[in-house]
Amino acid sequence: MTKFIDPEVPPSGTGCVECMESGGWWFHLRRCAECGHIGCCDNSPSQHTSAHAKTSGHPVIRSFEPGEDWFWNYETNEYIEGPHLAPPQHHPLNQPVPGPAGRVPANWQDLLVDT
Ligand SMILES: [Zn+2]
Ligand SMILES: [Zn+2]
Repeated sequence: MTKFIDPEVPPSGTGCVECMESGGWWFHLRRCAECGHIGCCDNSPSQHTSAHAKTSGHPVIRSFEPGEDWFWNYETNEYIEGPHLAPPQHHPLNQPVPGPAGRVPANWQDLLVDT
């Protein structure tokens, strides 16, 4: 196992763990490469992926968007190479971006966070 990456762990689900609990919404989804936690990206209003990285000490994430396979290391602030992770590789294709369906406000573009 590469440091901070466990390729055997499947993703926690199809949406941001904390947003699903709180009724929030997200722009893009990211996957913790160590424990599989799915969280919302840094442009999302709640930024649960970076919060998870801080509180858990799991700094490496991978995109959970269809067609994206990059890894990011919050510790070094750089893109890194990573192994093939346990499926699924991304959220369901019929899940809207932003998501989840029915919870995204009409003015969502104004609510994104600049990073
Ligand atoms: Zn979230
Ligand atoms: Zn984690």
